[in-house]
Amino acid sequence: MSDPREMNEALERAIRLLESARSVAVLTGAGISTDSGIPDFRGPNGVWTRDPAAERRSNINSYLADPQVRRDAWRIRSRSEMFDAQPNEAHRALVALDNRLHTLVTQNIDGLHQQAGTPPDRVVEIHGTVHSWECVDCGARGPMGEALDRVRAGEEDPPCEMCGGIIKSATILFGQGLVPADLARAERASIEADLLLAIGTSLSVYPVAGMVPTAVEAGRPVIIINAEPTDLDHLATAVLRGSAADLLSALLLR
Ligand code: NAD
Ligand code: ZN
Repeated sequence: MSDPREMNEALERAIRLLESARSVAVLTGAGISTDSGIPDFRGPNGVWTRDPAAERRSNINSYLADPQVRRDAWRIRSRSEMFDAQPNEAHRALVALDNRLHTLVTQNIDGLHQQAGTPPDRVVEIHGTVHSWECVDCGARGPMGEALDRVRAGEEDPPCEMCGGIIKSATILFGQGLVPADLARAERASIEADLLLAIGTSLSVYPVAGMVPTAVEAGRPVIIINAEPTDLDHLATAVLRGSAADLLSALLLR
């Protein structure tokens, strides 16, 4: 794919696929938000590459069992750059799909698709959102800003104000199951839409990556846009290697 002629052919094929699709399903991963200053997990600048303890904070069992893991998680979150991040050209280009967008399934927890203007009812946040907190005991939820204000005011591991239980960000941690209704929407999107676009995801995390084989089995073309090879490039109708912002602008903002 480093051959520029092959790249141009893939881009032209992708443009034609997009032009003829009446409805488009989209799957995005951490790579669509790196240009907004939020690092991915596994890349050279990835969170886990720089700080192996981050993997422990992403596990529900260590989070529940170890108060130190929770204190670290809250301290780091209270200083996180994720809350100041702005959508980039890639998020904005997807808004141009307008009514042709069937469903946008994102593995990201940053809320940037909605911030860019994609209607929230078309977005499935399959790994949850960092913009809310939730209680693991009573299920209470609220805006993340509230919890972070308590942390900044000195509560190192703020308990639920309803029941005294443990609260966490409303994200799906390792060891937690996905929400069945969200998974069903993702699967339906890959079958019902005319085309699937997978962007900035290594396609190594299942069951979400399964959207690609599901679309292929349903006879739908798949376009993969990623900076590096993914595990499922061999299934794609067109593979575009490069920056999500550049490639989506070329495809959708022409
Ligand atoms: P990943 O880290 O496994 O893969 C990201 C992929 O994006 C990599 O293959 C990388 O080559 C590619 N990439 C990076 N920058 C790019 C760019 N500018 N243009 C095109 N491609 C680019 O991430 P994943 O597959 O999404 O899965 C890991 C999990 O990480 C997800 O479940 C998600 O919940 C979580 N996560 C979310 C955020 C966020 O919300 N922004 C950030 C980090 C991790
Ligand atoms: Zn509670």
